Amino acid sequence: MPASPTPRAVIPFLRRYGLAAVVFLLILALTLDNYRSAIHDEADATRERFRQIAQEQAYHLRQRTDNLVREADVLARQLAFAPDESRAHFGEIVAPLLSRQPEIRRLGTLRLQPGGATPGAFASFTIADTTLPPGLDDNLQRAATHPSSIATEPYPITRPDGTPGTALLILSPITRQPLPPFKADEVLFIEVAVDPLIDQALRASFSREIQRRLDLEIVDSTTVEHVVYRSPGFRIGSSSFADSISVADRQWLLIATADRIIETLDPSQEAGAQLFSGLSLGSLAAFILYVLQTRAEAIRRQVDEKTLALGDANASLEQYVQALGETNRLLESEVEKHARSESLLRETTTLQRAILDCAEYAIVYTDSSGVIRVMNPAAERLFGYRADELIGVQTPLIFHTPEDIARWTLAQRVSGFAAVAAAAENSGTREITLRRRDGSSFPANLSISEVQDTHHQVRGYLGIVADITQRHDAERRIRHLAHYDSLTSLPNRTLLGNHLADVIASARERQRRAAVLFTDLDRFKYVNDTLGHHAGDELLLAVAQRLRTCVRDGDLVARTGGDEFVIVLGNLDEGSVPQDIASRILTSLAEPFVLHGRRFTITLSIGIALYPNDGLDGAALIKNADAAMYLAKERGRNNFQYFDHGLSERFSERLEIENRLRHAIDDQQFVLFYQPQVDTLSGELIGMEALIRWRQPDGSMVPPDTFIPIAEESGLIVPIGAWVLREACRQNQAWQQEGLGRVPVGVNLSARQFDDAGLLDNIQSALAESGLPPAYLDLELTESLVMRNPEHTRSVLAECRKLGLQLSVDDFGTGYSSLSNLKRFPIDRLKIDRSFIDEIVTQADDAAIAQTIVAMAHTLRLEVIAEGVETDAQLALLRRWRCDAYQGYLCSRPLSAADMTQMLRTRRATREISLAVA
Ligand code: C2E
Ligand code: CA
Ligand code: CA
Repeated sequence: MPASPTPRAVIPFLRRYGLAAVVFLLILALTLDNYRSAIHDEADATRERFRQIAQEQAYHLRQRTDNLVREADVLARQLAFAPDESRAHFGEIVAPLLSRQPEIRRLGTLRLQPGGATPGAFASFTIADTTLPPGLDDNLQRAATHPSSIATEPYPITRPDGTPGTALLILSPITRQPLPPFKADEVLFIEVAVDPLIDQALRASFSREIQRRLDLEIVDSTTVEHVVYRSPGFRIGSSSFADSISVADRQWLLIATADRIIETLDPSQEAGAQLFSGLSLGSLAAFILYVLQTRAEAIRRQVDEKTLALGDANASLEQYVQALGETNRLLESEVEKHARSESLLRETTTLQRAILDCAEYAIVYTDSSGVIRVMNPAAERLFGYRADELIGVQTPLIFHTPEDIARWTLAQRVSGFAAVAAAAENSGTREITLRRRDGSSFPANLSISEVQDTHHQVRGYLGIVADITQRHDAERRIRHLAHYDSLTSLPNRTLLGNHLADVIASARERQRRAAVLFTDLDRFKYVNDTLGHHAGDELLLAVAQRLRTCVRDGDLVARTGGDEFVIVLGNLDEGSVPQDIASRILTSLAEPFVLHGRRFTITLSIGIALYPNDGLDGAALIKNADAAMYLAKERGRNNFQYFDHGLSERFSERLEIENRLRHAIDDQQFVLFYQPQVDTLSGELIGMEALIRWRQPDGSMVPPDTFIPIAEESGLIVPIGAWVLREACRQNQAWQQEGLGRVPVGVNLSARQFDDAGLLDNIQSALAESGLPPAYLDLELTESLVMRNPEHTRSVLAECRKLGLQLSVDDFGTGYSSLSNLKRFPIDRLKIDRSFIDEIVTQADDAAIAQTIVAMAHTLRLEVIAEGVETDAQLALLRRWRCDAYQGYLCSRPLSAADMTQMLRTRRATREISLAVA
């Protein structure tokens, strides 16, 4: 018999290339391992970033839903007080609301009547148009007596493009009564379509790329879980994140999964370079070895030739063997014919075998009495047995727990395997616990199907098992995430909502009071910025612990967001006042924390809302405590404030202002004031900031803080901002041409403007119309605007840079960024926020922060301007720190254009005189 050709060819091959190949493979393996761990690290970083993104997403969605609920409240209140004739104009008032919020499908009122609801007085959009949401009447009855807006469960709708979607109603009682008990006979409804809602919220926070890959699920978890929204292909994965959102009186749970983002993550250039250099090194080493080996090979070849000659002698012997083979082959072809049919059979079996072998799921086949016949490799791995140990053995006791078998035996009235088979017959796939060889158990999905022969006799059972441990873990994690904060393990917003509902119910029953304390750390981000996120996390943990020591047993401390904690004090009797606890918290925080060997003090601001005076449900109490907290911040931080009903009247005021703002541009009611910016050392004018004012028909001036936020929310800021750009450029160019001053003008941009696609066009046409060289236009962007959507910011700023504009970061120190983050953007200047400058003389912390900002900005080659300088003492410090310039009342208040012209003239005159004297 001739030796098979394979080993003969393989040996010289190995001899020649073997060592080189081994070295190459070794280096390849090391490189790949390195590469994999680099990719892994990147995925970790992405996961962390995703967590922040998802939190931001929940935040935006929460803001959007809060906004809708607030609008419903305000509209309902306006309707309640509106005289009938003005109701006729209601359509005009809500028209902008509808156009700016695409998620609002319909809006109108419904009158409650014994026979069911009918369209109300304001019926230009009626709910009778098309589908009625299920359970509408019950919801209307509930809304009619509810102290604030309520929301319904999500229900299915058909979207304008014909695809299925979801919507919900927000219902508000129309009543003049401030507090229950009341029963409104008319209810305002806003029908909100979920898809555009999510769309709008996503658009605010993410790049399109991320939007496409982010998997989201939102469930209404108030009672039974209803899916509100689910992106196609959503599944819970290793990177899932959950947060809760309250929508009026309902709770939503938002679950976001970034697995697709992480899976499709492109390896970074660094990892790629590492891989490339590893591969090159491997190839080089292999090549050198190969050259060395080929020399040895030449010698070896001579020896082989000699051996070959010897081999010829053997050839005649082989001819004889061949003849013998010929005879054999004739015989074989006969046998083959018979075998062919058999081989066909074998082929099918092999195919089945192959399928079984590669299957990911464990597959076990038993005969009709439960004796194991087939077990695939996945089953061997899963259960920890070798197939040959189990084939021929009787199940069920091997895989199932005795308890399960006992249960099925009871239920099916048969025992042993028959019970399993009978149980299987009645159900499709089900979740059960299975056992491994080592006795450990795991959750699995099991499906058992009968295998019948052609006569419909049961021949056996096919069991398919999927290990669902991972899914269970993910679900458990999500469930924990859904109720507890992962950093501090304190209850989160959802649990807070449930607890608060219980506290309110019991307070109502026992005629007691309860309180909600909303706290927010003051300037927490500085810890993050100066000491890093880890230290920030440690501080939050330490604060959480202190807060817990300040409350009584049974009171709840929850963490509801970054540095926000909410405390619920239930069951307050007359003697105990929440302010005792608030003071205790403030005192307890006065004691410094020690982080990384450094002592650190942090303060917080507290807002307090009381049940029943300030709200009758949890959402209202939290909202009002939050409003009170803002009051505490306004009043200098590190204090507490009670909610006061005046705070909610501000909402109605807003709507009023918005209506008047619409006419202000056309009526030319806006003017620009200019505030000088001067060099700290020489006092020389280096620039000016344009600040808008709204002149009322009666001559009074409305400050921007009152109307800019409303203009932003309503989108009116876009045309207003375009006007500011034009006017500032025009005026600056006019001064320059008069020879009055060649300094740039700073123009404030708001977020809405920044996102507007027409921004660059507006800037270019303002420059072109006025003839102002671009270097004299300085755009001021707040740091929170810059950090909100860094990718978008970077690309817009790069465009501005190309135009030749100057860029400043405004209100630095109030946003969420650190200086090192800002380094990534092409900016020229930082403006330190007024709130720090305020207290640099009296507060050592503020002084340290401001000084650090100046020093760090200089190392990043950024210019620094201090805002709001009012005293000589402040200026002296800024000079000492080498802060470049300042702006503030010390030098000048913002001036009207006429006053500014005057000042520029006298300045020029003064300079001319001093030059003449010199
Ligand atoms: P900002 O950009 O931080 O402007 C500086 C504010 O500080 C101005 O308030 C200015 O009058 C005030 N200020 C300057 N020096 C001092 C000082 O020494 N002490 C005190 N207490 N205050 C000082 P103003 O003019 O009321 O503007 C408020 C905000 O409104 C601005 O803050 C800016 O964010 C916004 N704003 C003003 N004009 C525009 C505009 O045209 N477009 C946009 N989007 N926002 C604007
Ligand atoms: Ca500014
Ligand atoms: Ca500012």
